[in-house]
Amino acid sequence: MGAIATADSAVADQTLRITEIFYSLQGEARTVGLPTVFVRLTGCPLRCLYCDTEYAFHGGDMMTLGDITTQVAQHRPAYVTVTGGEPLAQPNCLPLLTLLCDQGYEVSLETSGAMPVADVDPRVVKVLDLKTPASGEAGRNDYGNIEYLTGNDQLKFVICDRNDYEWARFKLDELALVPRVSDVLFSPSHEQLAPRQLAEWILADRLPVRLQLQLHKLLWDDAPGH
Ligand code: SF4
Repeated sequence: MGAIATADSAVADQTLRITEIFYSLQGEARTVGLPTVFVRLTGCPLRCLYCDTEYAFHGGDMMTLGDITTQVAQHRPAYVTVTGGEPLAQPNCLPLLTLLCDQGYEVSLETSGAMPVADVDPRVVKVLDLKTPASGEAGRNDYGNIEYLTGNDQLKFVICDRNDYEWARFKLDELALVPRVSDVLFSPSHEQLAPRQLAEWILADRLPVRLQLQLHKLLWDDAPGH
């Protein structure tokens, strides 16, 4: 018992730089609309042209994993989403994910697809981006991540224009992505591509993907903390 308690407290004492922890409705992905606690980690090595979380690039506060999970528990959530920035840029994101799973939450991870996901706890639902050409960061996609995706994970393309759409459609075929994950999400880049236009392209091509609108932007106009 003593050895286990020591190991547990060693994990709880590890630290992460955190931009914000807040309770809101999930704005994206398969659990859209469900009350969720978000843990936003600070920092990202990418600079997508449409980034809407630049405030998470710098600053933040160092917190222990124990303090993070205490704050999460205060909201008594069923769902916890670890996001950023790019959460996997901080190595201690991995023990945080495991700790949250151990505490019984349904945990998801929003990641850019640029960092390896091989060591992410298998209980975590990975929501992995493939960056399109118009993001400016398509060269950062780590295609080695695809083999670590399971039927419990989700793939997301943020689509800025017709060229992005064609690129994403090609990747679906080239990498046989649809059967690999539970959902492929096509999300129109906010104020760059009309949602209706993307909807019509998806229908015209009969693509087996889910059109995703960002609920938090419709409800709160993207204010931090939502
Ligand atoms: S990966 Fe996400 S947080 Fe990082 S620059 Fe791109 S959109 Fe912003």
